Amino acid sequence: MLDRDERAYRKAMSDRSTVLLVEDHRELAASTGAYLEAAGFLVDYAQDGLNAMHLAVTNDYDAIVLDIGLPGVDGLEVCRRLRRDAKSAVPIIMLTARDQLDDKLSGFDVGADDYLVKPFDMPELEARLNAVLRRRDIDAFRESYAIGDLTLDVATAQVKRAGREIRLSKTQFELLRLLMRESPNVVSRERLERHLWGEEPPDSDALRSHLYNLRKAIDKPFDEELMETLPGRGFRIRA
Ligand code: CA
Repeated sequence: MLDRDERAYRKAMSDRSTVLLVEDHRELAASTGAYLEAAGFLVDYAQDGLNAMHLAVTNDYDAIVLDIGLPGVDGLEVCRRLRRDAKSAVPIIMLTARDQLDDKLSGFDVGADDYLVKPFDMPELEARLNAVLRRRDIDAFRESYAIGDLTLDVATAQVKRAGREIRLSKTQFELLRLLMRESPNVVSRERLERHLWGEEPPDSDALRSHLYNLRKAIDKPFDEELMETLPGRGFRIRA
């Protein structure tokens, strides 16, 4: 079971949800962004598909609001690539014009969670966002990973290797959770810092010492090393 600190920590971690808003129509982007910020979300903008993909893979957004009709790479393709290539599970709400009925169905084909038909009411967007975030929180609670003989279960906050329970601090647990979620991909130092501390990491040595202790806990007592450092690129858990 989670203790009180763990619950408080989770609440703090999910206090302000971050949203990537992808919309090429400037006025609509500005009014939607302003509304969401007033509603308590932290909002990033992209006005085309390439920029959207770049931001989505370098940041851990809680949700993406994605217009289908974008210059260059359109919203459907952005969604497809995020799911298929980047293996992203971020909740995505598509925005579609009324005469693009087929696009709605295509949106679900490529892995969107929900859609809104333009013009939409802002409170409706807010409600849909909150709904996908709630679903994501429930899913996150069921999140678990198994790589080799290493397992991590979010609901029970339990980490085991070769059947032995490994005790981790909350910070080490969150680091391992991200590394296992991304495995076998490399996760950069910057992304790990943002994952733990948002835009204000404490100091450059804090991450290093957490990683050192994590490695000591999950790898030291065992024959095979699962955690790998790639100089200048980041860290990963070997598949
Ligand atoms: Ca558009």
